[in-house]
Amino acid sequence: MEYTDVAVIGAGLLGCFAARALAALDVHVTVLEAREDVCTGVSRANTAIVYTGCDTRPGTLKTELCVRANRDFDRLCRELDVRFSRCGSLMAAFGPRAEGVLKKKLDQGRENGVPGLELLGPAEIRAMEPNLSPDATLALYAPGTGTVGPWELCIAAFENARDNGADFRFSQEVRRLARSEGGFLLETDDNTYAAKVVINCAGLRADAVRELTERPAVRIFPTAADYLVLDDRLSGFVKHIIFHEPEEKGKGLTLVPTVDGALLAGPTERPRNTAPDWATSREGLEELRALCGRIVPGLPLSETIRSFAALRPNPWAVREENGQWARDGRSISSFTVLEEDGLISLIGIKTPGLTCAAALGEHVAAMAARILDDPGRNPRFDPRRRGITRVHDLNEAERADLVRRDPDYGQVVCRCRGVTLGEIEEAIRRGAVTLEGVKRRAGAGMGRCQGSRCAETVVKLLAEALGVPPWQVTKDGGAALVTGELHHKPDNGQKKAPRY
Ligand SMILES: Cc1cc2nc3c(=O)[nH]c(=O)nc-3n(C[C@H](O)[C@H](O)[C@H](O)COP(=O)(O)OP(=O)(O)OC[C@H]3O[C@@H](n4cnc5c(N)ncnc54)[C@H](O)[C@@H]3O)c2cc1C
Repeated sequence: MEYTDVAVIGAGLLGCFAARALAALDVHVTVLEAREDVCTGVSRANTAIVYTGCDTRPGTLKTELCVRANRDFDRLCRELDVRFSRCGSLMAAFGPRAEGVLKKKLDQGRENGVPGLELLGPAEIRAMEPNLSPDATLALYAPGTGTVGPWELCIAAFENARDNGADFRFSQEVRRLARSEGGFLLETDDNTYAAKVVINCAGLRADAVRELTERPAVRIFPTAADYLVLDDRLSGFVKHIIFHEPEEKGKGLTLVPTVDGALLAGPTERPRNTAPDWATSREGLEELRALCGRIVPGLPLSETIRSFAALRPNPWAVREENGQWARDGRSISSFTVLEEDGLISLIGIKTPGLTCAAALGEHVAAMAARILDDPGRNPRFDPRRRGITRVHDLNEAERADLVRRDPDYGQVVCRCRGVTLGEIEEAIRRGAVTLEGVKRRAGAGMGRCQGSRCAETVVKLLAEALGVPPWQVTKDGGAALVTGELHHKPDNGQKKAPRY
């Protein structure tokens, strides 16, 4: 049995930021994650937007946290050495119904204290976004909207929490949770943990985790969404985040010029009666392409390099009906943070959960501190973390200096994104155990060829570092990529590959 003050269940954005905020207190924190790495759930597939708070109802916890989180985002990203682009957003209307929505959002945003909001007419829209359809009649400009890499942010929170003493345990799915004298017992397949406080950040499973000890109250009914990713050759095609407010009922299009230079289009809203899974749907992708054709008619969809699906953890209140738990009323739109005698559950935290992850982390850490009778601050807590080296972003002198110190940073392995052997080795040293883990940290495999040229080298490097044969290296914790020895000499940049 292991003892801890606070057990956090789940290492997505919310679990990692809860751990970071708890590490700033004088408490012992243990994070139990079912998977082999951080950021493998809802946090890995979303729209990557840092919202301002003009979309949410005044006076709610969601709005309060969102407005504050947006204001503090530059500081957070400086501390964690994470790329953040405050590119601003245009919410575009194409007719009278949507214009009405924009005017309401303007009033709501101003009431919420969101600075700089403005309504723009067609000429101003065209000057700011020449590639947007000329049919846009009005746009709500929000200069404070931004975009961040969700993986980068989650990994940064994890590393900073870990460096400040939070104890992360992977492949530890909590299967039993029981109340005991002075707290809780949490059982995984190979260990038992005793904790005074439990923070449940289990994402899509947060309802099931809570119900290990409590009666059902809120359940998650997931729906799926589809996205397209377009090559960074289109960098600059749109300069702001574009939200399309549809005239008819239904989902609009969102376009995000990401911090990596790619263009993200999505998400769709698949009907509630379709089984949600992480596979993309043909209908969803077709709908997205059709929307792109209408909203940004010149967008070359042939530059699509990837599609992916996301899952929305929609929370609903439930009531008992003939021995079954049925949905009650409407889907809950506010953030659901339940505190039940030392069990704090974040259930169904959807948009803007990425924006608010740090603020929510502080919120639940303050709740835990009250339960633990105010343990005081950790005097050694350091909020700063050094980002993973990005050779591509260095200037020539910095690059030359780095390569002199470690020649591996001069050998390009992922040619599409210019990621070097040194960066991949660093990603593995810092915790990547799968191909996706390397991709999320170093960006290898994110480009046009989607890893078809560098995957072999990455598998070899992972196998060496993990001390396993290549056929045990997995893409994302599931099935392995190769079924035998690697027969080809991997392209590790030693001969023909380009060098910096
Ligand atoms: C389609 C979509 C688009 C979005 N876009 C935006 C956006 O643009 N901006 C924004 O601000 N927000 C956005 N969000 C919201 C944001 O992505 C989420 O709020 C956030 O990622 C939720 O993180 P999480 O930590 O709760 O969940 P997850 O990332 O799913 O983490 C939960 C973790 O718990 C682990 N786990 C589950 N059960 C157990 C168990 N029994 N034991 C141990 N571990 C367990 C899982 O393995 C997982 O790692 C979007 C969400 C969706 C769905």
